[in-house]
Amino acid sequence: MLNQEHLRSILLKLDGLSYKAYHDIHGSYDFGDFTLIIDHVQADPFATPSKLRVKVPQSVAGFPPSLYQNKIREVALRDYLTRQFYKVAQEVSSDRGTGKSGLIAIASVGQEVLPRSAVGVDDHCVEVRFLVGLPAGGRRIFGRQGAAMLCEDIPHIVERAINYAALNKMAIKQQVETVEDAEMLRQKLREKNLVAFVANGAILPRRSGVDPRPLLNDVVPFQAPKSLEVELNLPNYGLIKGMGIPSGITLIVGGGYHGKSTLLRALELGVYNHVPGDGREFVVTIPSAVKIRAEDGRSVCGVNISPFINQLPQGRSTTNFSTTNGSGSTSQAANIIEALEVGSELLLLDEDTAATNFMIRDRRMQQLISKEKEPITPFLDKVQQLYLDYGVSTILVMGGSGDYFDVADTVIAMDNFQPEDVTAKAKEIAQKYVTERSAEGGINFGKLTLRIPLPESIDPSRGRRAVKLKVRDVDEVSFGSEDIDLAAVEQIVDGGQLRAIAQALVYAKKKYLEQKRTIPEIIDLVIADIESEGLDVLTEFPQGDLAFFRRFEFAAAFNRLRSLKVLE
Ligand code: ADP
Ligand code: MG
Repeated sequence: MLNQEHLRSILLKLDGLSYKAYHDIHGSYDFGDFTLIIDHVQADPFATPSKLRVKVPQSVAGFPPSLYQNKIREVALRDYLTRQFYKVAQEVSSDRGTGKSGLIAIASVGQEVLPRSAVGVDDHCVEVRFLVGLPAGGRRIFGRQGAAMLCEDIPHIVERAINYAALNKMAIKQQVETVEDAEMLRQKLREKNLVAFVANGAILPRRSGVDPRPLLNDVVPFQAPKSLEVELNLPNYGLIKGMGIPSGITLIVGGGYHGKSTLLRALELGVYNHVPGDGREFVVTIPSAVKIRAEDGRSVCGVNISPFINQLPQGRSTTNFSTTNGSGSTSQAANIIEALEVGSELLLLDEDTAATNFMIRDRRMQQLISKEKEPITPFLDKVQQLYLDYGVSTILVMGGSGDYFDVADTVIAMDNFQPEDVTAKAKEIAQKYVTERSAEGGINFGKLTLRIPLPESIDPSRGRRAVKLKVRDVDEVSFGSEDIDLAAVEQIVDGGQLRAIAQALVYAKKKYLEQKRTIPEIIDLVIADIESEGLDVLTEFPQGDLAFFRRFEFAAAFNRLRSLKVLE
C-alpha cells in the first residue's frame, strides 16, 4: 500500500494540471495511525465532493468496548463521533479555491440519535466516511493545498475526533448512558400499559420553528400531575418520575398558546432518542406512534378508506380509493388507514393540522345535513372502535370541541404549559351537557385491506440512467422522473433518512416487488436486511450520508409516489 508521503508527492506533482488528473489519487494510503481511502474523486470543483474514508484501528482510537457493547450503545457512540468529527472538520476546513475547494464535511445531524452510515465502530477499528472538496483554482489543481488538506488536516481531525484519549470521556459516557436509558424507557412502556412518558423536568419547547434546539429563556419545565405520575427504573439513571399516558384515547385540551402542540410535537419525536441536553431525552412514545394530519393535494392509490368515508358523489369507490389530489378529509383518512396497514398502534393528531369535518360533526349539523348526504364518518365516531377492534390508541390535541369528552379515557389540560388531569371533570361535564349527537360509526371499525404494489409502477430511472435520486432537505426526494413530496410526513427528521428511504425504494423494487407481496411484507423484508447487514445493504458502494428510518416513513414515501399502482 502507498503511504502518506506517496500521496503528498502525487498531489504536489498534480499541481497546476487539469482537474481530471485528480483521478490519480483514487486508492488507499497508509497514514501510520490510520488508513485513508479515497473511494470516489469528483469530476470538477463544483460537482458532489469526493468521497473519502478513514479506518482508525482500535489500538490507536482506543474506545473501551463497554461504550459499544450492545447495539444501542454502539449507535450512541457512533452518533457522538459523527458530531465530533463534524465539529472539528468545521473548525479545520477552510475555503481553498473554486467551488467546493477546501470543504471537509460529514453528514450533518440534528437533535436525534439515529443509526447512521457516517461512522462505524467495532472491536477492530473506527471507520469514518466524509466528503472532501479537492482544491482548485478554476479547473487547475491546487496540489499544495490538496496535500495540506489530505496529509495535514485530515490526520489532525482524526487525532482530535476519533481518539478516545483526546475526547471528553464524561460526555461520551453521558451520551451512551442517556440513549441506553431512553431506549429502555421506551421498551418499558408496554409492561405498564402506557403509550408515552414525559419525564418531570423535561424541556419541551424549541428555540424556533426552524431551530430544534431547546428554548433557553422563560421555560416552564414539565411536571406530571400526581394522578398520572409514574415511576420507572432505568439502568443508568435509576428511578425516574414523569407523566405516563395510558393506552386508550387521550385528549389534550387547554387554551390557545398554553403548550398543547408543543407537547404533541415532543411525543411525535419520542419515537427517537435524543442527545443529552436536548430536554426531551426522557420523552418517549411507543415505537409505532404515527403523526396523522390532513394533507390536501396528496395522491392516494387504492386505499380502503371506507371506515371513514362512504358514498362519495359520482359513485366513487372508497374501498379502493384513488386520487391525484386528495381533500383534507380524504387525505387524513388515507393517512390513518396507511399507518394501520403497516402496524401503527398509536395515532397522534393535532387540531392545528386536522380537517375539521374529519374530526367532528355536531348535533346541529347532523340535523341540517342528513347522514345519507355526508360521506364522512367523523373520527369521533371511530376512535373507540379503533382501540377496541385493533388495540390502536390515539392522543389528540383538541381545544376547540368538547364532543370528544364522551370517548376519551384520559383528558389532560395544559395550563400555562403545565399539565393537569381533568378527566373526572370532563366526564362530569359530558354527563351534564349531553351532546345529543347520534353515533354514526356503526358497530365495528371496519376491515383493513393490505395492498400489493405493481413493480412497474415504481421506476427510479430517468433518461439513460437506471437510477436517478436526489434529496432536497427533509421534504422532498426526486425519484426517477417524479418528485415525492414528504413535507407533511413530520416524523422524518434527517435528510439521511430520506436518502436511505429513496435507496430503499430502489432496493425493494430490485429484490422484493416481483413476488406479489403486500406493502407491509415488502417493508418487513427490507428492514430485516438493514437490521442484519446495516444501511450499506441499500447501496452499491459504501455511503456516509444515510440514516435509519422507520417502517412508517418508508411506507409514507411508497404511498406518496404519484406513479404507484396496486393490484386490484
Ligand atoms: P397551543 O398548541 O396550546 O396553542 P403551543 O404548543 O403552540 O400552544 O405553544 C405556544 C408557545 O409557547 C410556543 O411558542 C411554544 O414554544 C411556547 N411554549 C410551549 N411550551 C412551553 C414551556 N413549557 N415553556 C415555555 N414556553 C413554552
Ligand atoms: Mg396548537
